[in-house]
Amino acid sequence: MRPFLYQRASDSNMAVQALGAPAAANNPLTKATAQPLAGGTTLIDLMKLDVMRPATIVDINPLARAWSAIEPGSDGLRLGALAKMSDVAAHAEIQRSYPVIADSLKLAASAQLRNMATLGGNVMQRTRCNYFRDVSYENCNKRNPGSGCAAMDGVNRMHAVLGTSDQCIATYPGDFAQALIALDATVEITGKAGTRTMPFAQLHKAPGDTPEIETTLQPGELISAFSISGRWPRSVYLKARDRQSYEFALSSAAIALDVQDGTIRNARVALGGVATVPWRAREAEALLKGQKFDEALGQRVAEAAFADARGRRHNSFKIALGKRVVARALQQAVTMEI
Ligand SMILES: Cc1cc2nc3c(=O)[nH]c(=O)nc-3n(C[C@H](O)[C@H](O)[C@H](O)COP(=O)(O)OP(=O)(O)OC[C@H]3O[C@@H](n4cnc5c(N)ncnc54)[C@H](O)[C@@H]3O)c2cc1C
Ligand code: SF4
Repeated sequence: MRPFLYQRASDSNMAVQALGAPAAANNPLTKATAQPLAGGTTLIDLMKLDVMRPATIVDINPLARAWSAIEPGSDGLRLGALAKMSDVAAHAEIQRSYPVIADSLKLAASAQLRNMATLGGNVMQRTRCNYFRDVSYENCNKRNPGSGCAAMDGVNRMHAVLGTSDQCIATYPGDFAQALIALDATVEITGKAGTRTMPFAQLHKAPGDTPEIETTLQPGELISAFSISGRWPRSVYLKARDRQSYEFALSSAAIALDVQDGTIRNARVALGGVATVPWRAREAEALLKGQKFDEALGQRVAEAAFADARGRRHNSFKIALGKRVVARALQQAVTMEI
């Protein structure tokens, strides 16, 4: 591991100043920016692998008192970015009113990791592309812009079939982000100019020509909270993976439905494990609105969700798998007892 400066944030002002400081951004030794440290389960991992080389680490855990509240209310939910995955997953009201959130967290990583990891760190985790994580491969446009992409003709079984570009086909690996996308969440961002909010769907950037730029956060900005309007008791997170625990998604679906008298009034469909960013399948969900659900409709929705998918040498199976996951998750959401 390379040398770095460790700073402990005394408050959010100090954190954003330290993260945005030019000296931190231009350290000649590492050419890397300052990074916030939350649970450390991604950041420290990638520093040990020499993939991330921050000159400065700003430990934001002292902000937990202000930024870790779990606040369900009559008109929605607010989650602090420093809330632990395990605390949110175990919260009775989250399980009751937002099962898609509870399940997306419960099905992620391991119990030990969930006890350390935070919601903010979870949505900011980096891809698990093996070529990105192994610095002995030079050609990774995300790590070394302009160097090529080893995954295109390499082993790409875990890679994305939606939202890819000629520069990068890496999958966004997290689970919780799909729940946020399906619930139309808002993300609260704290920076030097104060606090701003935006739709969570605008946080992650598809790779395009600049796969090294993964989010729309500006230097020095921190995620401080997530908000969701309304309650979504009829919601489901279904995850298919190589083994039943401690494994990333091959394909997942986050579904949120509003069903009245058997008719679907509102529907949200988000996909994970198959796309470069947390993926909203808007054309697919439009097919559900105003309809009564049956198996044939589930199939049509699943087909629409993957209409633009493009498979590569080893990952085409994700298209067939993903359709089954969507159809089954819809069936579960429609039939669940609430
Ligand atoms: C073996 C293993 C298996 C895993 N399996 C899964 C899985 O199945 N599903 C899944 O979803 N995840 C999985 N993970 C990933 C794990 O959930 C993440 O590592 C964890 O959620 C990151 O949270 P953290 O608080 O530890 O973040 P950190 O490691 O502290 O930070 C991660 C990144 O986010 C930045 N960051 C942290 N907090 C903020 C903030 N508030 N604002 C802006 N930037 C911030 C950091 O600078 C860093 O770049 C797995 C991890 C491992 C090691
Ligand atoms: S898929 Fe993206 S992260 Fe993986 S090697 Fe290619 S450019 Fe790098």
